[in-house]
Amino acid sequence: MKLSELRPCDSCGGPLKGGVFRIVETRFAAVNAREANGTLALTQYFGGGGGAFALAEVMSPTPDAVKVTPKVLEKFFLCMECWCKPVCLAELAEKRADAERDKEG
Ligand SMILES: [Zn+2]
Repeated sequence: MKLSELRPCDSCGGPLKGGVFRIVETRFAAVNAREANGTLALTQYFGGGGGAFALAEVMSPTPDAVKVTPKVLEKFFLCMECWCKPVCLAELAEKRADAERDKEG
């Protein structure tokens, strides 16, 4: 990442003090119910429990029942102070979208 890509903290708007900060990336994720049910049914078939679940995931034709989009939706910069306190990511996403809209004109 280049210095020119840095911006102030997305939560407080302050500087990223001390040069150490967090980057939080978001993506969409969804559980495919049909594929999840397939794995869970196999778990029951193998007797239930943690061992049966692990075996079911190995034996399932569709073990990746949770789909995660590869595209990063948002990338938030958080100073260490904001990292340690409650932050509403949905609110930050709105603020980032507004900032991007303003930048584009
Ligand atoms: Zn901050």
